[in-house]
Amino acid sequence: MSQLWKKNLINITPYVAGEQPENSRIIKLNANENPYPPSPMVEKILRDKNAADLRKYPSADAVPLKKALARRYGVREENVFCGNGSDDVLAAAFRAFFNSDKPVFFPDVTYSFYPVWCEVLKIPYETKPVNSDFEIDTKDYYEENGGVVIPNPNAPTSIGKPLDIVIDLLEHNQDCVVIIDEAYIDFAPDGFSSVGLIEKYKNLVVTQTFSKSRSLAGMRIGMAFADPELISYMQAVKDSYNSYPLDQLAIETAAASLSDEKYFAETIDRIKNTRDEGKKILRKMGFTVLNSDTNFLFASHPEYSAKAIFEFVRENGVFIRYFNKPRIDGFLRITVGTDDEMSVLYKALEKFFESVK
Ligand code: PMP
Repeated sequence: MSQLWKKNLINITPYVAGEQPENSRIIKLNANENPYPPSPMVEKILRDKNAADLRKYPSADAVPLKKALARRYGVREENVFCGNGSDDVLAAAFRAFFNSDKPVFFPDVTYSFYPVWCEVLKIPYETKPVNSDFEIDTKDYYEENGGVVIPNPNAPTSIGKPLDIVIDLLEHNQDCVVIIDEAYIDFAPDGFSSVGLIEKYKNLVVTQTFSKSRSLAGMRIGMAFADPELISYMQAVKDSYNSYPLDQLAIETAAASLSDEKYFAETIDRIKNTRDEGKKILRKMGFTVLNSDTNFLFASHPEYSAKAIFEFVRENGVFIRYFNKPRIDGFLRITVGTDDEMSVLYKALEKFFESVK
């Protein structure tokens, strides 16, 4: 039988997400999830939900959520786009804005979904190496290009940058769309978010998510903020392949989460405290730990291989993330858990150091 049809199959290497173990006793510090539950307001929505309402389609454009987001972020409803997690939002933005023959630029060490979307959507791209401190050099992005994507803070490096870096990128990239992926922005210092720049820069798209700071990764809710014209293009892309992406529960729980700022601020503070404490503890153990503006730590050990440490702590019931990739294969990405979860990790690490003595 002919096998020629095989030459027309898609040829891609998919993005690999953090492992989701079946065993709930495993301590999961490998997917940058929030260790705390979402706001009690979210629980109330789930408890009070009338199952009969699920007969109906949700709001096609997630209108109640867009209104709540517009209020929370001080923008207009027309500045807001919603999708199934920021992955979906980013994919819509890539489709809508990256249709040039020139390459899209992003850092070489960054969120590994960007090259995957470029491959699958046949978008030319070029990576720009971060320096030995894992910092981007904005001058690398001055050349002509088909678009720019920068996560701020960056993942997996955990480094956040103040707004002058973004403004520099925008000033030198006025003929293409610049996407700033702010998946971890709520863990960064105040004033790092670019949302306030969308009024001035009509080619800027800022994406965010409910998955990390709002503990709703399981609901798949993400958003973008941009000039209404850019939003209308993203909306057109979305309406061309799935016109009802956010389900009723996603819309309602996300809006409920936004109504409880006190809980949001408290949870973030706890995570930041555990993170800053964790950085000190790991450094005492001999790790090099980058300064983190996120809910994870990026750490390497000068004496021991990251892979060996990863495997050892995994055997001891703690999942962290190891990337078998150039430049970062000496590093571990550790999601900040509760203080108790982190203590189990520190014990497993101490056990590792004992075992290799
Ligand atoms: N951007 C970055 C930098 C991320 O690390 C992630 C999480 N994997 C996402 C976007 C997507 O997150 P979500 O789809 O859950 O919003």
